[in-house]
Formats: sequence, structure tokens, C-alpha cells
Amino acid sequence: MSDLIQLLPDHIANQIAAGEVIQRPASVVKELIENAIDAGADTIQLLVKDAGKTLIQISDNGKGMSKNDAIRCFERHATSKLKTADDLFALTTKGFRGEALASIAAIAHISLKTKQHDQELGTIVEIEGSKITKNEDTVCANGTTFSVKNLFYNVPARRNFLKSDTVELNHISDEFVRIALAHPSITFIFIHNEQEVYHLRASNQRKRIVDIVGMKINDKLVPIEEETEIVTINGFVGKPEYAKKTRGEQFLFVNDRFFKDTFFHHAISKAFDGLIQPKHFPSYFLYLTIDPKKIDVNVHPTKTEIKFEEDRLIYAIILSSIRQALGKYNIAPTLDFDRENSFDLPHTMRNQPIVEPVIKVDTNYNPFNTNKTSSGSSSTNFTKAIHSEGFGSNEVTPEDWQNFYQIEEEQPQPALQEIAFEQSVETEKSFINQGKYLFTPCKSGLLVVDLQRAVERIVYDEMMAEFVSSPIVSQQLLFPIEREFSKNESAIWIENKTMLERLGFQSIIENQTLQLNAVPAILQEESIQTCIDLILENISFKEIEKGDIAHFLIVSIAQAAGRKKSKTNSAQENEQLIEQLFQCSDHAYTPTGKKIVQTLTFEEIALKF
Ligand code: ADP
Ligand code: MG
Repeated sequence: MSDLIQLLPDHIANQIAAGEVIQRPASVVKELIENAIDAGADTIQLLVKDAGKTLIQISDNGKGMSKNDAIRCFERHATSKLKTADDLFALTTKGFRGEALASIAAIAHISLKTKQHDQELGTIVEIEGSKITKNEDTVCANGTTFSVKNLFYNVPARRNFLKSDTVELNHISDEFVRIALAHPSITFIFIHNEQEVYHLRASNQRKRIVDIVGMKINDKLVPIEEETEIVTINGFVGKPEYAKKTRGEQFLFVNDRFFKDTFFHHAISKAFDGLIQPKHFPSYFLYLTIDPKKIDVNVHPTKTEIKFEEDRLIYAIILSSIRQALGKYNIAPTLDFDRENSFDLPHTMRNQPIVEPVIKVDTNYNPFNTNKTSSGSSSTNFTKAIHSEGFGSNEVTPEDWQNFYQIEEEQPQPALQEIAFEQSVETEKSFINQGKYLFTPCKSGLLVVDLQRAVERIVYDEMMAEFVSSPIVSQQLLFPIEREFSKNESAIWIENKTMLERLGFQSIIENQTLQLNAVPAILQEESIQTCIDLILENISFKEIEKGDIAHFLIVSIAQAAGRKKSKTNSAQENEQLIEQLFQCSDHAYTPTGKKIVQTLTFEEIALKF
């Protein structure tokens, strides 16, 4: 009898392999972006046409490939990332199986342009159904561009199986977002049918999350930081009141790789037990860092399921670190009165009619006097308003802040409403160091407040509350301020003029010169220039949702107020500052997510001796 077994030709083997790795356009996006990251790129652009059915193009500024590698990369099991079997247990790269490009080449038309940084010329390679149709030198930028056209052109069953453009685009967007969240230090751009979907500048974790999810989440993020021998966890969970009816914002990463894990998901949900309503899901963005030897990434072809050697321990660490963080935060909702109506302005404001600002001319106003003379100061009104609305009582005393810093990790957390305040903060013994930090003894040790940030939070909340409920008080300048603008700066100012006017800025721009006639009364003369700088910095080159412009502008005003050099405060002023701070919507973080308050416990102080 003759032999029956034959080896499959490579192109058929590749097509079969492709079925596992490349299920839809989103899989191509994932594989190619991961390759760009492995190549050390710090800017990656994804350009997609018709949800990837016509074109998927990924350009990076990574290390590029040599002329030979530009051909070899399409061969099956061709990888530069794994040399010995041992490497498989110490992976630091996304890819290692060497099958993505071979798979894509088997089922699409690819054009590759690549150049290494030390080379004069790059290489262009075109490949169709695993056959090379072009291989030449070319002039191109450093890095690599893969263009993938006509995906599944030779696998009609697959092509027909693709869903509508909306569905496929959603899949692409999901992959893009997962990778972008895992790599906040890389700039990512995503363009679909000539429209920019995302432009994410290199930044940090928190900023990346906010850039993707939207500014509304910034105040809702509770930081998680836990370092153990087994695993390091950092990232954020959403405050319980931010829990959603859908599972939208749930992200787990290990060593910068997104993964799905029902076991760990369970740990996170458990940490929220009793804090969120039934059928609501907590948001989380958790980044685990672990010795690569202790995980197996290779269990699934697309590597979204990962095996952990010490999964039970990690479960316990996740659970306790989230509980602890939520415990620290537990107190905040008590202060978080009326939040929905007042402080989330950008989103609740959308349907409100526009209120003209009221201009008050203060005849006593002297622009050369740095002490605020404006009669419109609403800080006392604001404090009063809070006193009458918050806590369900008319009087709030510093004593109310007691025990803020005192929740013992081991104790079971009391329910939110049960946390009582006892006397503790002794503001009369406060002092300011280097004009920067306010130190105040409290029951558990020493409370340290970053003054600049505290002022930022107070002014932000004050202005936001004023903006929501009444027209902003504007202060006419006796001598208008003039400022030369660049073309770009003029454009930014003009684009946001209406909102700036609502906030109390009266201005004229002519020949790229800004003439500022009135400013929000809350802003002191000496902070105006800084404020203009901050406005331009905070809103230029950003994709800001329309409803968030007010937020960014108020942040700028608050930051300008905070940067004013602090003088020495009297005990009473210190007390007032602390009091005002703790009445804010979130006393622990600035509106842009920077920490305001730290406690040095007696134990921590003792450890220093
Ligand atoms: P893997 O990523 O598993 O190694 P791939 O098929 O995705 O396998 O890629 C094969 C090889 O091609 C990679 O190992 C790498 O050497 C090279 N390569 C792919 N994409 C790029 C890129 N954007 N920049 C530089 N080299 C790349
Ligand atoms: Mg790869």
C-alpha cells in the first residue's frame, strides 16, 4: 500500500494557523500594535478604513527591520523574541510565537515599509497570499509601517462571517483601548475613515484612563497600591457610587498585557460587596506586575488567558488591597453631599440655559494691591451654604474631621453612614513649612496638607458651585491686561470665548493680541498671567468633550490661585483652610488627581528613629 501522509504546504498551514490567531480585523490590529510596542516605538498610529475590511495600517517609530528580516518576518515561526526554550519562561515581549505575520500574510495583501535608524534606505516588501510580489529599497521614515488590505480575500467563509462595520469597529476599538491603557507612556493615534477617534499623548496611568474614559471619571478613581513579594498591584478602582449597570470599564493587566480572569474578577467584586447595588458592576483598572516565570502566557493563541502559579494568594492580595483602599475612602461619601447636583457640572450643565455673568465694578479695587479687595468673595457664602446643607446639621466644626485618618486596616469596615467623627484635628497647633506644607497634629499622628493643592481644590469647588447655581462674579480691571498671542493661542482663546465669558473673562482679541478687561472675581490680579498660561496649557491640543471645557477652565483658574505664593497664615486662617478643604467634594485629591493630604502616623514617625 502506498503512503498516505503528506506535509501540508506552508501556505495552507499558514491559512489554518491564521484561523486561530486572526479571527477578525481587530486581531490584526492587536498583533501589529503589539509588534510595534516590542520594537520599542514611542508613537504608534493606527489607521483603519471601513472597520478594517478595506485597510488596516499601523505605523511606528520603533527600531525597524533589516532588508533580510523584512522578508523573514513573514515566515512561520519567525521571531526575534525567543531564542531558547528557557526564554519562554521569562518573557518580556508581547509576541514570541512568530506566527502573527505569517498568518496575516496568508489571508491578506500586505505592504511593509521599514527602515532601521542607522540605515540610509529602507525596504518595501509586498506580499499576497504568502507570495512576495515586491522587494525593493525605498526611501522611508525610521520605523515600520504595515498596511494590511483585503483581509480574508481568499477565505470567503471568514469574510462572510464578519459582522457589520459598527461591530467590527467596536472590536478594534476594544483592542486599541486595552493596549493603550497598558502603555500610557506611548503616544497612540487612531484614525477611522479619516476621522481621528483617539489621540492619546504619552502620559501616566491616571491621565491615560481619563483621556480614554472621559474627565468624568477623574474624581471617581480610588488609587490602589500594593507591593508584596508575590505581586505588585497598582491602578485604580471606581468609587462605589460610580458602579455601572454594564461591565464596560473592567480592565486587568499583567506585566502590561491585558487579560481576562473570572477568578480575579470575583475577588474585585467581592471587595465591593455591600457597597454597590445589585446588578451594578464596579469599574477597575488594575495593573499586576509579577515575575514572568510565575505566569504562563502561552495557554491561549491570542494570549488573553493567563495561568498564574500563585493564583489563590494573588486573589487574597487583590481583595485586601481594594478593601483597604475603599476603607480609606469610605468616609468621603459622608461629605459628598449633593454631589450629583453641584459638582459634576460639565455633564449636568449641558441643558441649562446660559446665564450672563454679572459685572460688578468695585471702586475700591486697586490692581497694585495684592490683597483681595473684591467685595464679591464668595468663600464665606460658600462655607455658609455648605454648613447649612451638609451633614444634615447647621454647624460644622473642625471637630467633625476627627478620626479621618484612623481607620484600622484589620477592623471590619463600618457601613458608610456609621462612621462617626470625633474630636481630633488640632488646628491651633498647625504650622506651615517653607510656605508649602501645612502640618497639623491629629489623633493618629501628623496630617500634612499640600497648601497649593488644597487651595486648588477649594477654589475649584467654590467656583464650580458658583457656576452651577448663579452667574459668576466678574471683576472689571481698571487697567486692561494685554498679551501677545501666537496664532494657535488666539485660535484657542477665540474658540472658547463663550465659555470664558461665562466664567467672567471679558476679552477682545485683535491682531493676535489679547486684551483682558474683566476676570473672575475669585482671581487675584497677580495670578492673572499665570491663569492665562494655564488655560492655554490645559485646553490646547486636547480633545476635550464640549461639556468638559468648563471643568478645564475652572481647573486652570484654581491652579493659578493655588500657585500664588503663600504667606504665613494665622492659626485661624489655617483652621479655616483645613475646614474648607474637608468640606470639598474630594478633599484628598485635586481636580486633576494629585494628592492633597497625607497622614504620617505615629508608627511611621517612630520608624524613622
Ligand atoms: P512575534 O511577534 O511572535 O515574534 P510576528 O509574526 O508578530 O511574531 O513578528 C515576527 C518578527 O517580525 C518579530 O519577531 C520581529 O522581529 C519582526 N517585526 C514584526 N513587526 C515589527 C515592527 N513593527 N518593527 C520591527 N520588527 C518587527
Ligand atoms: Mg507579534
